[in-house]
Amino acid sequence: KVYRDYDSHFKLVLLCTTVSGGGLLAYGEAVATSEAAVTEKKKKVLVLGTGWAGTSFLRNLNNPSYEVHVVSPRNYFTFTPLLPSVTCGTVEARSIVEPVRNIFRKKHVDSRFSEAECIKIDAVNRKVYCRSNINNNLNAKEEFVVDYDYLIIAVGANVNTFNTPGVTENCHFLKEVEDAQKIRRTVIDCFERASLPSVSEEERKRILHFAIVGGGPTGVEFAAALHDFVREDLVKLYPGVKDFVKITLLEAGGHILSMFDKRITAFAEDKFQREGIDVKTGSMVVKVSDREISTKEMKNGGEITTIPYGMAVWSTGIGTRPFIKDFMTQIGQINRRAIATDEWLRVEGTNNVYALGDCGTINQRKVMEDIAAIFKKADADNSGTLTVKECQEVINDICERYPQVELYLKSKQMHSIADLLKESKVDDKKESIELNIEELKTALANVDSQMKFLPATAQVASQQGTYLAKCFNRMEECEKNPEGPIRFREEGRHRFKPFRYKHLGQFAPLGGEETAAQLPGDWVSIGHSSQWLWYSVYASKQVSWRTRALVVSDWMKRFIFGRDSSQI
Ligand code: FAD
Repeated sequence: KVYRDYDSHFKLVLLCTTVSGGGLLAYGEAVATSEAAVTEKKKKVLVLGTGWAGTSFLRNLNNPSYEVHVVSPRNYFTFTPLLPSVTCGTVEARSIVEPVRNIFRKKHVDSRFSEAECIKIDAVNRKVYCRSNINNNLNAKEEFVVDYDYLIIAVGANVNTFNTPGVTENCHFLKEVEDAQKIRRTVIDCFERASLPSVSEEERKRILHFAIVGGGPTGVEFAAALHDFVREDLVKLYPGVKDFVKITLLEAGGHILSMFDKRITAFAEDKFQREGIDVKTGSMVVKVSDREISTKEMKNGGEITTIPYGMAVWSTGIGTRPFIKDFMTQIGQINRRAIATDEWLRVEGTNNVYALGDCGTINQRKVMEDIAAIFKKADADNSGTLTVKECQEVINDICERYPQVELYLKSKQMHSIADLLKESKVDDKKESIELNIEELKTALANVDSQMKFLPATAQVASQQGTYLAKCFNRMEECEKNPEGPIRFREEGRHRFKPFRYKHLGQFAPLGGEETAAQLPGDWVSIGHSSQWLWYSVYASKQVSWRTRALVVSDWMKRFIFGRDSSQI
């Protein structure tokens, strides 16, 4: 606002000078100088990334005392939960993206956007090196440096291939809109190729074998979406090849959807087997060539088998972006998957850099100390043991603070402990059982060192963005008024409450208009009613009325006309 008004003030000063002489000029200069001072005083906030975390920060930041610069290689936000629907044409790509300039256009905050990627962070000199992804006249890419007072890193994560040979060259990923569009074209390509008269039966079988690596929510949802697409639309269009189609889901662990309640896992595995989706658990992919996938079969003593395939989609989890690795080395965070932050989302070892969403993680050591403190408090008589009831309270307390611990207890099949402790109706006899605190602590500490204490989901990223924007909105007020309502300013204490994740539940669409929903309070629902809940939640979570209208109309079009199978 100051920038915009600056020009008009100057015009006014010139006019006044001609009319009233030097006295007014002096006044005008004073106004301009004080405004310039205000402009100068504005803190520079640099936001890297326009995904869930970055846009939710931008949407909620409303304090005009900042000058915001956003840098991201994409000038739009993507509603990632609907990417699997784009792969099969249930929803169009344009319906799930929103230009970022639309998102911060209405704000009173001075904001600018640069379509570029960050290539290096210099935390000592508070500078970020960026490279535009648009070629200039010389066919080179512009590079520039941006300095900052506060840096918000919200760049998400890379696909993790675990250095498996051949994955990058031969597999599709499902991370960006372009990936989803490419998958859609390749699926149709496979059907067209398999329909050519010159293709042998064996080759036809290979071409129409769709392999999905990774039995997490994304892999499962894609398998279900592809199965629906084939069964409801493609078999009608390609009747000659329909019997050759096969979908295989490869999962290295013992179950698919292992982070969900065991009832959902069992339902999904049964449903897929019934519908002909081949779920191979205990199958670890060790190599991918252009025609075959090699797997190590855990159930057969590590035997290596090869599976011919036509299209493979790799969806096994997330890794670290190279420039983030470099930044982590700079600040002494080595051998980590994500940037460690404190509970206020500030990067450990810095005081003006924040990391949100998939690229950050709240330091596990701190969490474990916190958990240990909760145990210690409950063990008032220092006996080293707690009754089941006491344990129940402790675990409830921990799960409330860290919902991921609860998910973890379930996912690792530690159902006995979780059930014992979380069961609300522990009977009297059981109450006399004493559980060893050390054993329990070890069970909790056994969390895989790479695991984030918060899941890498849009829900976490967007809550973190909103939380940090609210902190920034109040930062100036808190600094000016240290004795004010938020008093905790001394050493080791904080101006803001720490970030607390509120788990609102999770969905796993399983195809055939059936979805599994796991909602807070251990409430599990599977079936058509959950599918309608899924539709309403995802329609309501859209970032604009424009995308909401487009997504709903795509769903309606699909109900009426089926999915579009053209390659465009
Ligand atoms: P992202 O949303 O990935 O955003 C990262 C941003 O950083 C992007 O704008 C990117 O362009 C930008 N960027 C990248 N590199 C640079 C760079 N060098 N410099 C500057 N900017 C950069 N979560 C759920 O909760 N529910 C779901 O149903 C769900 N479904 C999913 C389905 C799919 C197919 C996928 C891939 C993910 C799904 N997720 C879901 C997970 C969710 O999308 C992520 O957890 C979430 O996107 C993380 O948000 P983020 O802001 O950290 O990163």
